[in-house]
This record gives sequence, structure tokens and C-alpha cells, in this order.
Amino acid sequence: MEIKFVLDFDGVLFNSAFEAYTVANKATQGREGFRQDIPYDEFLAFRSVVTDAWQYNRLYTAKGAIPPAALPDVAPNEDDWAFARDFFEARREIMENPDWPKVMPPYDFYFLLKPLFAAYPGRFSILSTRNVASIRQALAFHGTENIEIFGQEDIRRLGSKLAVAQSQHWLDQGKFLIVYVDDMNSHLEPFEGEIHLPLHADWGYDRGTPGSLSANQIHTIISSLLSLANKDAA
Ligand SMILES: [Mg+2]
Repeated sequence: MEIKFVLDFDGVLFNSAFEAYTVANKATQGREGFRQDIPYDEFLAFRSVVTDAWQYNRLYTAKGAIPPAALPDVAPNEDDWAFARDFFEARREIMENPDWPKVMPPYDFYFLLKPLFAAYPGRFSILSTRNVASIRQALAFHGTENIEIFGQEDIRRLGSKLAVAQSQHWLDQGKFLIVYVDDMNSHLEPFEGEIHLPLHADWGYDRGTPGSLSANQIHTIISSLLSLANKDAA
């Protein structure tokens, strides 16, 4: 079996909530039809259930925000897709500033893994709801390249993080030993019983559970498995 480490990006590798807030505010700034006064706390509470950028429209629309708990039942309409286009355009403009990744600091976990990314890039994949270009640029800014990235585009095309994993045959019996690290319990739940090690990162944006692990604990698991895998290969 091939050992593979699948990592979420936001809330696991990078503390990116403020970047998303900056982008959403820029996309709506001074525009009629959008709330202009959303506090960061309210944004964070809403973001904890967001899986696609169009959903921020349901927070920013002047028609009034829906409660975060109601969001998973909302289907996107034309206005929502228009919002998503504006959001990604605003991010593209912000990303033209070479200092852009500075609003999105890496967690300690990133720095623990950085040497492993460099030594074993093929062992790692990023699986995120963020668009691929912004992940690639943030990683490159901090010196990590050549890691496979599955992002918003893949999740939209295939339907979910689990569906992306299926498309890569990560769930095939006996083929891979997958370690998947995510900070959102709702993103891990579909993987329970499907992969060997779904691990909840306790430093991200969701509540901790009794099984949640620290960055040091997860780093220890990953480096131990890597040394086993390398011993096998030797
Ligand atoms: Mg996350």
C-alpha cells in the first residue's frame, strides 16, 4: 500500500480567514445591494459552514444574512454565481500585489511539514475548497512547490472532497494508506470508515473534539509513517 498524506489548506496549513474576509469585503465595497458593515466575528461564524465562495453572497446581500446553520440547504441562484465571480476577480486583483500572501500566515504545522514537502513532494496532496491559483501562490511564496493541489474547481466539478478522493482512487481497497488532515469536522465525517486515518486538526476554525490532535501530534504521525514507508522502499 502506498502511503499518501492529504491535507486541507485553510485552517490546517494557513490561517487564511482574514484573507477571505479581505477578499469578500473588496468584492462588495461601496456596492449597492451588499452589506458594508459585517463584523469579523460574524464573518468567521458564517465561514465555518462555507464550502464554495458563492455562499458568501448569503452573508453579504443587503436582503439580509441567513443563519449559518441554514446554509447547507441553500441552492445557488444567478446572483450567487455572480457573487462568486466577483469574489474570485477581487482575489485575482489582490493577488497582483506580490505581498498578498502576507495577509495569510502559515501555521506552525506548515513549518513542521515544510522540509517533508521538499523531501517527499509526491507523498502529499492538498484538498481544499479554495481556488487552486491562490493555494499555489501562497505555497510558492513560502518556498513549497511541486505539491499536487485539488481545489475549488475540482470540488465544483466532482461535487465534494470525498468525490475528489474517489476520483483519485484514494478510497480503493488496499491501494493507499491515506492520512487526511482537516480542521472541519463536517469535511472529515464522509471519510470516516473510508480511509485509514482521518485526523482532526485542533488549531483551525472548528470546535475541538475528544479525538482532535495538535500540530505536533500530527507531525509525529506523518514523519513516523514516512520513515516506515522509506524503510520499506529501501
Ligand atoms: Mg479547513
